[in-house]
Amino acid sequence: MSLEGSRICIAGAGPAGSLLAILLRRRGFEVVLYERRPDPRGRSFDSGRSINLAMAERGIHALRRAGVFERLRETLIPMRGRLIHDLSGATSLQPYGSRPEEVIHSISRHLLNATLIDIAVREYGARVEFESEVIDCDPRERRLQLEGHGGRRSVGYEVLIAADGAASAVRKALESRGLIDASIEPLDHSYKELTIPADATGHHRLLREALHIWPRGDFMLIALPNPDGTFTATLFLDRQRFADLADPAAVDAFLTSQFPDAAALMPDRLAEFASHPVGHLATVYSRPWHAGSTLLLGDSAHGVVPFHGQGMNCCFEDCVAFDELLPAARNWTTLFEQFTRQRKPNTDAIAQMAIENYLEMREHVADARFQLQKQLSLELERRHPQRFIPRYTMVSFRHDIGYAEAQRRGRVQQEILDELTLGPRTLAEVDFERAARLIETKLPPMPDPPDQPRSSVR
Ligand SMILES: Cc1cc2nc3c(=O)[nH]c(=O)nc-3n(C[C@H](O)[C@H](O)[C@H](O)COP(=O)(O)OP(=O)(O)OC[C@H]3O[C@@H](n4cnc5c(N)ncnc54)[C@H](O)[C@@H]3O)c2cc1C
Repeated sequence: MSLEGSRICIAGAGPAGSLLAILLRRRGFEVVLYERRPDPRGRSFDSGRSINLAMAERGIHALRRAGVFERLRETLIPMRGRLIHDLSGATSLQPYGSRPEEVIHSISRHLLNATLIDIAVREYGARVEFESEVIDCDPRERRLQLEGHGGRRSVGYEVLIAADGAASAVRKALESRGLIDASIEPLDHSYKELTIPADATGHHRLLREALHIWPRGDFMLIALPNPDGTFTATLFLDRQRFADLADPAAVDAFLTSQFPDAAALMPDRLAEFASHPVGHLATVYSRPWHAGSTLLLGDSAHGVVPFHGQGMNCCFEDCVAFDELLPAARNWTTLFEQFTRQRKPNTDAIAQMAIENYLEMREHVADARFQLQKQLSLELERRHPQRFIPRYTMVSFRHDIGYAEAQRRGRVQQEILDELTLGPRTLAEVDFERAARLIETKLPPMPDPPDQPRSSVR
């Protein structure tokens, strides 16, 4: 079916669906979104679940491309590095990058989503039907079953893009009809959110411009700043241990013994622990991502665990990739095939790297050799900026390097770091001549990023 004049239905007006709606309206397509929840504009958000998100360069690049970044810029809080809290309360900052602009940003999920919906509707004329839940989809008949507004209805569609998240109803409908294969790999750890309130003057009680981590081996607590002076803390813990923490005394003993400095800043910890839900985490794989004129995009196609802070960034990158393929596309089928071919290796790569990052955050950040390798990678980048780019930097600050390429080069770099840190315990003991030889042999130079030359690193 040709693209021209198509009316596009999008299931889900979350971050991916609403950004995609803006991009598609800018291309002149008619867009209708079906969203299960009520209109988020002008409402306060549901507390207790994923209140803020880390946004990095891929997400910002996508927002810029849609012309909406300036509307959100003021709400971002830069986070310059990980601030590690050990059991004694001592802290150390591990910078995310070597340049001042290499920071990630904390953003309110609710504000981001409500702003994107508002722009899509008011500035670009997308139509959103709120409180309309997709309960089934038949891609052969091109029909959606919707529930809401007191009943069920069936609507036809020409093209459907499913951006209905990791538990996608559309994906389940395609899978149940044998049109795609999908698998969900649950993580053995779940999460719960708690609040660190502002101080009496409305200011943050911890360093504002950092992502705080309390790594404790097989579990961890993290905290991201919010603009109102609060932090949203997230406890990641084995599912069974969550289940075992049934009574308040056990919860308090756990929090105060494992995170004494953080627990002291959370006066409502027990009430929140009792009332906030436990969220489950999983990696979603599906193949292919399309059937007829129905496409999965964002978390519905490839939900990842949140430990690289890239899930939404990756979904936004999907939207940009889709938008970039549109002008040359001849019909929807070939466009969906091209999109999947281009994106799947990259989303598979970030899915794996996100799991690796989980182990890194909860176990290795406190490890001496790991810390030496982090320092060394920044030093190698300073010495060889065209060739050695730390993996975290490629993933978080280089939208021009695909996730799959970042993963591939990251593996080579890790071998180099392992080799160089076999004996040395400090940076001064590292053999930098050997490092230069290894880097020149194993890592071909990379082009400069589109907007900042890498010839100088601070
Ligand atoms: C604890 C946690 C922390 C995270 N932290 C980060 C982070 O720091 N950085 C980052 O980049 N990513 C992060 N993520 C990942 C990020 O939240 C997701 O990747 C992103 O929200 C996916 O966007 P999406 O639009 O594809 O799906 P969703 O955000 O899930 O949106 C789906 C939308 O579809 C609607 N919907 C669902 N089902 C239906 C239906 N049947 N019918 C109609 N509408 C429906 C939903 O109401 C929602 O509006 C985190 C995730 C979690 C769980």
